[in-house]
Amino acid sequence: MENVIRCLIIGSGPAGLTAAIYASRAGLNPILYEGSQPGGQLTQTTDIENFPGYPEGIGGYEMMEDLRKQALRFGTQIRVGAITSVDFSQKPYSLVVAGQEELRAHTVIIATGASARYLGIEDETKYRGAGVSACATCDGFFFRKKTVAVVGGGDTACEEALYLASLCQKVYLIVRRNVLRASMVMQKRVFAAANIEILFEYQVAGLTGNGKVEGADLLFRKGTAEEEKLHIDIDGFFLGIGHKPNSEVFKPYIETDANGYIITKGRSQSTNVEGVFAAGDVADPDYRQAVTSAGSGCKAAIEAERYLLEKNL
Ligand code: NDP
Repeated sequence: MENVIRCLIIGSGPAGLTAAIYASRAGLNPILYEGSQPGGQLTQTTDIENFPGYPEGIGGYEMMEDLRKQALRFGTQIRVGAITSVDFSQKPYSLVVAGQEELRAHTVIIATGASARYLGIEDETKYRGAGVSACATCDGFFFRKKTVAVVGGGDTACEEALYLASLCQKVYLIVRRNVLRASMVMQKRVFAAANIEILFEYQVAGLTGNGKVEGADLLFRKGTAEEEKLHIDIDGFFLGIGHKPNSEVFKPYIETDANGYIITKGRSQSTNVEGVFAAGDVADPDYRQAVTSAGSGCKAAIEAERYLLEKNL
């Protein structure tokens, strides 16, 4: 087993990388583990227009590359591998990478983010990779000049719909209520797009197709006296219904809320286990923005530094 790591950061989104920048500049020699999606969710976003400092906006992938370079510049060690189990019952804490290598750490910053949610219908699994996707920027290219549907009414769904509208012939936006939840600026863009048709008050009953998605069966005002069926012909089906926090591995020790978000104490990023901090989407059911994630990563690193100093580690 190697020496005890002073500051172990799990996750490479804006929270993890900002924590790494602060921790490395503070001389904590942080080691950061990036999981299966290096750079996190932002690498799948097209343009980020609301991160301060970029008046013209910046591509998600580009911004994450810059953050990574900044963390490397101050000496962060970035390693690839998912943390598959932890033992926070004894200090220094123990963590296992990919079910094999065991690490020991004095402080841990959990910045594992969140993953796309699925509706939970059988056909999503049946057609996964055959027309079903939760990432328009990853898979939209396959549906050029075709017809697709996006489910959801938040910023994610609107952003996906707008991106797809630039490539596809037609985009249906399937919204379960009679309003969008997305920000006004996004709503305006969606309403203005000539090839986006919004289907308000529709839910997805199932997908159809021979080996790949060819259509969707929808229900208008499901479960009411006005319930009506509608079939649409589509080539692609995109999920945009939000995300779930990646906190499963830590749950035996770390307190989460009913939806799995890690609970942090008051204004701090500390969890119920001392020396273990959480930052970014995994601990944020409310804001989930790149800039708030980065801010919480900064706070976690400063708190880790204070803890190490206090404990003389
Ligand atoms: P949200 O939670 O904001 O929205 C989820 C949407 O999916 C809602 O419209 C919700 O409907 C709908 N939904 C949830 N479950 C189902 C279901 N089972 N069937 C049908 N519809 C469902 O998540 P987002 O991922 O859109 O956004 C998360 C956060 O990230 C927000 O703060 C957002 O502002 C931010 N964001 C910002 C972006 C930007 O600024 N460029 C881009 C993407 C996200 P209902 O409204 O009825 O609950």
